[in-house]
Amino acid sequence: MLHWIARYTRWLHTRWPAGTVEKLPEVRHDGSTHVPGVFIAGDLTGVPLLKIALDSGARAVSSVTPSGDPDVLDLAIVGGGVSGMAAAVEAKKRGLRFEVLEGAEPFVTIVNFPKQKPIYTYPRAMVPSGDLQVRANVKEDLVAELREQAARAGIRPRIERVERVERQGEILHLHFENGGLPLRARRVLIAIGRSGEYRMLGVPGEDLDKVYNRLHDPADFEGMDTLVVGGGDTALETAIALARARARVTLSYRGKEFSRPKPENVAQVQRLASEGAVSLRMESRVREIRPREVVLSNGHEDTIPNDVVFTMIGREAPLDFLRRSGLRISGEMRARQWVALSLFLLFCCWLYNWKSGGAASALWAANHWFPFNLPDLLHRVGGAVAADARRPSTLIGTIAISASGPAFWYTLVYSTVIVIFGWKRIRRRRTPYVTTQTLTLMLVQVIPLFLLPEIILPQLAYHGLLPRGLLDALFPVVTYGHGREFWRAYGFILAWPLNVYNVFTPHPLWWWIGISVVQTLVLIPLGIYFFGKGVYCGWICSCGALAETLGDTQRHKMPHGPFWNRLNMAGQAVLLIAVLILILRIVGWMLPDGNWIDSVFDPVFKEHYKWWVDVFLAGVLGYGLYFWFSGRVWCRFFCPLAAYMHIVARFSRFAILADKKKCISCNVCTSVCHQGIDVMNFANKGKPMQDPECVRCSACVQMCPTGVLQFGQVDRKGKTLKLDLLPASPVIMREGPV
Ligand SMILES: Cc1cc2nc3c(=O)[nH]c(=O)nc-3n(C[C@H](O)[C@H](O)[C@H](O)COP(=O)(O)OP(=O)(O)OC[C@H]3O[C@@H](n4cnc5c(N)ncnc54)[C@H](O)[C@@H]3O)c2cc1C
Ligand code: SF4
Ligand code: SF4
Repeated sequence: MLHWIARYTRWLHTRWPAGTVEKLPEVRHDGSTHVPGVFIAGDLTGVPLLKIALDSGARAVSSVTPSGDPDVLDLAIVGGGVSGMAAAVEAKKRGLRFEVLEGAEPFVTIVNFPKQKPIYTYPRAMVPSGDLQVRANVKEDLVAELREQAARAGIRPRIERVERVERQGEILHLHFENGGLPLRARRVLIAIGRSGEYRMLGVPGEDLDKVYNRLHDPADFEGMDTLVVGGGDTALETAIALARARARVTLSYRGKEFSRPKPENVAQVQRLASEGAVSLRMESRVREIRPREVVLSNGHEDTIPNDVVFTMIGREAPLDFLRRSGLRISGEMRARQWVALSLFLLFCCWLYNWKSGGAASALWAANHWFPFNLPDLLHRVGGAVAADARRPSTLIGTIAISASGPAFWYTLVYSTVIVIFGWKRIRRRRTPYVTTQTLTLMLVQVIPLFLLPEIILPQLAYHGLLPRGLLDALFPVVTYGHGREFWRAYGFILAWPLNVYNVFTPHPLWWWIGISVVQTLVLIPLGIYFFGKGVYCGWICSCGALAETLGDTQRHKMPHGPFWNRLNMAGQAVLLIAVLILILRIVGWMLPDGNWIDSVFDPVFKEHYKWWVDVFLAGVLGYGLYFWFSGRVWCRFFCPLAAYMHIVARFSRFAILADKKKCISCNVCTSVCHQGIDVMNFANKGKPMQDPECVRCSACVQMCPTGVLQFGQVDRKGKTLKLDLLPASPVIMREGPV
């Protein structure tokens, strides 16, 4: 049994790559942070590209104005790389009092590029804001043109390493590593890049002079015994360059196979290995580095001759500097965040209990608190309002009845939030895809999921505009509210098993059963076949609507990695429970009235399911974790309809197609995916992304800085059949498809 579950888990979820996301500071769209006056530009904002760094540096200065205060700088720029210097050129133009603090030498990251390194200036059609520009094709020309432009603008950085930034009242104090008086400024721009802290192996001998973490000129190592450690593109490119320069190369990687680097690099390394130019040591670790040799182990220890070691295992963002300066790191929770999360969860417990007719709702009703007293309040207004409120067929009378329960107010607030944050999303993302998708989500939420059950259907019924037979079939008579269960209209949009209440009824409601069958077994699978699961989750569903609007700025908070990919299976368990309940329900209908299933169904199965799944998992956890773990926690992990759609999506043609030549492995696509998908791992290999979790939000396509990704369809062999008509990538919109 366990074997079959493991095979099924692999088929559905764990077969897909599950890379994690590098920690970076929390930065808003305009570069501001939660510390007032402290801004971030350049690589630390997430995209390691020269043009993006120049652009973010220049734009960060656009809102700074001269204060005229001779004792305090208008602006202090920490870091004299491309983004810091772009900011400095702009600051000079705007007449600001500013200073650039550089820890090593201006443009040091570029000065350290390997000799004659080709420069790729993506995005091709982008012209960064500000006067500092890049045009060169090789490293040496790039350094020269940057130095020349900085000198022409009269920018002379002060060579001093900043230890931290501290806010005291309105003024920011910059403390230096070598002591000395702190510098005072009104605005600080942190532009220190990501090249600060190389990851360490943590083995004896790592501090020897022969250990490097970058390769400058491969020719310097001709004929030497070299060891390259790592399994990413940089490690493989270093090994290839050394082998071509006729060094003897050993490449040590702890993994079983290379999963992150580009296929061309893997192919080249394997070719060099087959020719004997590179000795590949997979699943090996460095134990010790000695002056003339290194010790590797993979089960047994192996000592090999060695002149030089390149540890190419990546770099960390300078997180300690950011922490010392009180900046928040994305995904890191401090005590304050845990307290806020706990309080918000408690609030959600109350909210969903109140909204779902629990003890909180009973307390409100018993005390006649708002909104239960709404009809009385309207009567007290007197005049025409009171008269209309007494007649359910008037608009005010219909609203008086609908709005006297918590669900009306909950849905009103929910819809308003979607409209307001949807509008913000349209303005923020600016692609035809996002505009059309968000407008659709807003319309679906406001019309069929709010106005229809609360106002339109009761009004039509009061005025005799709906056939009696239709009303009886869809909205059974009750003794409260409008006298009919108009809330069942949610079933037009929310399909089984997301909405179970039109199917788990004491007697079958055949029309709803028919609608549910058509939705769940015909329409949704058809839509998924062509457009993926996002056809529902990203374009129709109300949970998705909130996640794509209010949750648009929270998406990077979804955790990534193998553990979370396994947790995706929680939804399969909820789906299984829903199916078992459905079977019981059908058997109950087939047995004579009053059978044992009828007597236990409502109190035990339906009520438990409602409180555990709809109230606790969807409501309390789904929304309670919104601002700490993204808006798709319910959708990704627990929703039974999504779980069903994951199975269907395994047979879909939908894919995100990648032009791997343009991929710079920046990981932006993975980091913004609020379904936890490791998009980069498909993109940099040029493979179609077909992880069934995708909700087609388009964040990865829209955010990719080089326009690698596009929505489309593929056949069973992964061959492209067609591309989506709605443009979703601003870079491709500007540059056109390749
Ligand atoms: C090997 C390599 C190849 C690349 N190739 C390309 C390419 O072909 N095309 C492309 O578009 N992009 C490329 N990039 C990316 C590009 O170099 C970066 O996007 C760009 O340099 C980022 O600029 P930045 O100003 O944010 O950071 P950086 O250029 O890294 O500058 C940061 C500066 O801050 C200074 N600093 C750090 N800490 C402190 C401190 N505490 N106090 C004071 N100063 C400090 C550093 O000394 C440094 O000068 C490459 C990057 C690397 C590493
Ligand atoms: S596909 Fe992903 S990793 Fe590649 S460049 Fe685009 S955002 Fe970066
Ligand atoms: S469109 Fe991209 S970001 Fe959105 S869910 Fe799919 S893979 Fe993730």
